[in-house]
Amino acid sequence: MMDKLFLKDNDYAGLLKELAREGIVYASVEEEGEKPHIRLITDDYDGQLKPASIRAVEPLKALLFPALENVGAYMGGADPGEAKQRAFIIGAKSCDLRSLEILDRVFAGGDFEDPFYIEKRDRLTIISSDCTACADECFCGLMDIRPYPTGEYDMNLSKVDGGFVVDTGSERGAEIVSKHKEFFSGAADGQVEERERNREAISLALEEQAEGLRIDADLRKITSEGFEDDVWEEEAGRCVECGACNFICPTCHCFILSDHAGGKGYERMKRWDACQYAGFTRVAGGASVLQRRSERLRNRYDKKFIFFPALMDRYACTGCGRCVSACPGKIDIREILKVLSSQALARRQR
Ligand code: SF4
Ligand code: SF4
Repeated sequence: MMDKLFLKDNDYAGLLKELAREGIVYASVEEEGEKPHIRLITDDYDGQLKPASIRAVEPLKALLFPALENVGAYMGGADPGEAKQRAFIIGAKSCDLRSLEILDRVFAGGDFEDPFYIEKRDRLTIISSDCTACADECFCGLMDIRPYPTGEYDMNLSKVDGGFVVDTGSERGAEIVSKHKEFFSGAADGQVEERERNREAISLALEEQAEGLRIDADLRKITSEGFEDDVWEEEAGRCVECGACNFICPTCHCFILSDHAGGKGYERMKRWDACQYAGFTRVAGGASVLQRRSERLRNRYDKKFIFFPALMDRYACTGCGRCVSACPGKIDIREILKVLSSQALARRQR
């Protein structure tokens, strides 16, 4: 869209403050002793929060598909209202951007469109950033994702000495630059080269970390071939059906609608559902197609590694590792993939 730009460290806070005057600004930040998380930035922001080095604990879906949302009212209930304010997310990472491809397909790209999601998505400007570290749980490389955004952003910030190399990826991103020219200058060749060196270094660090996880097999194939493997029963024995893996996952998108008394009438609420819950597929009369925990665990992998690749040639897993950190039963998606892979290999050698 245009030549590479540069944003000085000192101007980063100024830009966020200006954006906070135009809409709601969420930034992915790091604070002492805490994991990277999303914070609301106001127009009196003092610039004290450090931009996050890796993806935040919260998945981006929370901004577009809230955990609980009023989607209708009747008989005098409180109307969902019209929150039409522009929003910005600063510091979304590459894996987060991939999760939006899945959510866009589900809520805005199929036979049914969700107006609540679409409206929030249209209002959201994405200012992404390169990862400058990797968490122990990160395995985006296995999902063919680089640790720096390669598209799907309005603007991207790559940390280098003294500031950020800036790319614009859309008209919206270009508009931010033209509206706030005072914060941007041309990036020097040396700064762009430094960015490339940083990208190579973080890619290498991720590869080294994932060394033991190298799976030379098609994940679709090993998941479908492993349908009857013991791994599901063995791993599901530690599942306590808390739903944390579903809720923290940036691509899990199942929801349930329920009506509640609210205001003077009734409200229809849309809330996150979890396929690991016993009642997930329960129907009237008590029947359920996924009665066993092992069946529900397997179903989750089926969706991520078979169903979505068939639908849109994408794994519905970004390798963010959030479910690994969140699971109280220490069920680790990487370990399950490794078991499936070694059992597939053993079958071939028989
Ligand atoms: S399944 Fe786990 S690692 Fe994959 S996207 Fe969801 S939370 Fe991240
Ligand atoms: S986070 Fe772990 S224990 Fe909780 S539902 Fe998911 S697999 Fe089961």
